[in-house]
Amino acid sequence: MGRLDIYKVELNGLQEKQASYSWVVDRKFFDAVVGEEVNNGKVEVELTVTKQSDLYHLEFVLKGDVIITCDRCLDDMTLHIETTGDFKVRLGDDYTDDGDIVVVPRKDGYINVSWYIYEFIALAIPIKHVHAPGKCNKGMMEKLNGHLIEEEDFEDSEESGDSEETDPRWDDLKKIKEKDND
Ligand SMILES: [Zn+2]
Repeated sequence: MGRLDIYKVELNGLQEKQASYSWVVDRKFFDAVVGEEVNNGKVEVELTVTKQSDLYHLEFVLKGDVIITCDRCLDDMTLHIETTGDFKVRLGDDYTDDGDIVVVPRKDGYINVSWYIYEFIALAIPIKHVHAPGKCNKGMMEKLNGHLIEEEDFEDSEESGDSEETDPRWDDLKKIKEKDND
């Protein structure tokens, strides 16, 4: 049995109009799905499958914490997520997923929802995600800040070279230079 087999949802065998599933996805899950953004965490997943004639409506509710990389200090950070997601499934000849309706082969009669769970979790993460103020890795921040300050100094000196406004101290220096040239 594969590590993600527990996320198989039987559709052919669905006797009732509705069925419910629940999982807690954790490090083992994130290791097995091999997504880029999230490698660890603990998220409760509730799934309700509702049969509507030949369509199955899959509705997910996800709640928990994921561990991702902070954009500012590049250290791990914990992010709380609460999200929902849904899609429809139909049994057909070949597997297709056009975004609205997923078709799974009738001969299989099931859908493995592990990748969909991962995607709902990944979609719940804001594009920019950073630690709360003051919670970033201090050592890393010092390195990054040192680097930033250097860059800013460099930009400043370039700008002052282009600008027409002159610092009075530079004017004095110029006078001295001019005197030397005389
Ligand atoms: Zn941080």
